[in-house]
Amino acid sequence: MARDAAGRGRNRVTREQPAVGPRVLLVEDEPALRRALADMLDGNGYVVETCGDGAVALRMANERGYDLILLDVMLPSVDGYEVAAGLRQRGVHASILMLTARDELSDKVLGLKSGADDYLTKPFEAEELLARMEALLRRVSRGRTPELARYDFGGMRADFSNRKLIRRGDTVDLSEQESRLLQYLVEHRGESVITRDTLLREVWGYESVPITRTVDVHIAWLRQKIEADPKSPRFIITVHGRGYRFAG
Ligand code: CA
Repeated sequence: MARDAAGRGRNRVTREQPAVGPRVLLVEDEPALRRALADMLDGNGYVVETCGDGAVALRMANERGYDLILLDVMLPSVDGYEVAAGLRQRGVHASILMLTARDELSDKVLGLKSGADDYLTKPFEAEELLARMEALLRRVSRGRTPELARYDFGGMRADFSNRKLIRRGDTVDLSEQESRLLQYLVEHRGESVITRDTLLREVWGYESVPITRTVDVHIAWLRQKIEADPKSPRFIITVHGRGYRFAG
C-alpha cells in the first residue's frame, strides 16, 4: 500500500511489528462476557479480536489468520456448530475451542464432529479456559514442521509468517489459505506437477478428497495477487488435467 502522505503510513509501521502472542478470535454474542473475556485474554498475552455473530466470524476467520478460535455455540445468524463446520470445509486450520452453555453429551459430540478441537461448558473459570487454550496451542506447535518464513521471487517477497506479499513497495494481504497454498507451492517448486488431490490433502487437510473447485478458485485468487497477467501466469503454471507447478 502506498504511503501517500507524510504521517499516514505511521499506523502501518506498527502493524508490521510481530504480534506479541497467539492470535485469537473470540466469538461471543453476549457483550459483557465478550468484553470480560477479551480483557482477560489480552491481560494474558493473547492478541484478541472479537465478534458477536456467526456469519461475521466465518468471514473474519477465513480472511484473517488466527491461531485459535473461541466459539460460542448459541449465536445470531449462524450457530457455532455451523461456523466450525464451515471453517473446516474452507480449510481453516485454527484450533477451535467451543464455549457452550449446555452440557448434554449430544452437544459435545456435535461440537467435536463439526470440527471443534475441544469444548468448555459455561460457566468456567478463567484458569481452566487458559489451560485448555495452552494445551490446544501446544498440540498445534508440536505437530508443525519448521516452515519457510518468507520467499523472494520475481521481485516480490512472500512473507508467510505475516501472510503478506510485498510487491514493488506495496503490501498485499494474503488470506490464510492463499498463504498456505503459496507456501506449499514454493516448498515444492522442484516438482513437475502438484496435483489438486495433493493440495487438498496437504494444504486443506482433507483425508478423503472431495470433488471441489476449491483449489482452482484459490489458485485464481493467488494469481490475481502475484501475476502481472493472471491470464498468462509466469509463476503458478497449470499442468493441464493434472494440477499445478510453481516456477519462481
Ligand atoms: Ca451465546
